[in-house]
Amino acid sequence: MAFTIAIDGPAAAGKGTISRRVAAHFGLAHLDTGLLYRAVGRRLLEGTDPEEAARALRADDLDETLLRTDAVAQAASRVAVIPEVRAALLDFQRAFARRDGGAVLDGRDIGTVICPEAEAKLFVTASAEVRAERRWKELTGRGFEVSPEEVLADVRERDARDMDRAEAPLRPAEDAVVIDTSEMDIEAAVAAAIAAVEARR
Ligand code: C5P
Repeated sequence: MAFTIAIDGPAAAGKGTISRRVAAHFGLAHLDTGLLYRAVGRRLLEGTDPEEAARALRADDLDETLLRTDAVAQAASRVAVIPEVRAALLDFQRAFARRDGGAVLDGRDIGTVICPEAEAKLFVTASAEVRAERRWKELTGRGFEVSPEEVLADVRERDARDMDRAEAPLRPAEDAVVIDTSEMDIEAAVAAAIAAVEARR
């Protein structure tokens, strides 16, 4: 039987870790849909037409090590405003969402557009300042030289693009449980997410 957990929210709110841990806890497959947009964004940086890139996307384009940079993240949010790119990625995400055995998908529009019928919907968020600080620590920990101010400006720019776009803007579904992780550590956030899903089972 399909059991879908939709986890949406802005960048660096803790969505990725929460989604992986929730999927492991309930024994469900997991798809980080941001990787699809990042892979198309990476192709854009190489000069490929984004719509064409979205149609031709393959599993081995989703290699995370090449996709977890700020330049690729910004390019991802630029291709994500293009309706044809979103349309090209829709069927794959919908099929994944309703696969036998159930699935966790995380992104920006899972509960609102990709799988409005999801059995459990979470919206994971945190203040822009907290998210930028977390992202700054992660980037400097990986050896990137960036200032906290640059990271905050990047987070705000991407938030604005994701929330203000006409197609599938970032917003909580009406029936989503909102988890604000600004003052939670990751263990508390994972526990809150698992409890919210349990309540829907
Ligand atoms: O989640 P992540 O930071 O990897 O996403 C990168 C970008 O991809 C986001 O800023 C957003 O513009 C886009 N995205 C989207 N819809 C999704 C997942 C990601 O528009 N479901």
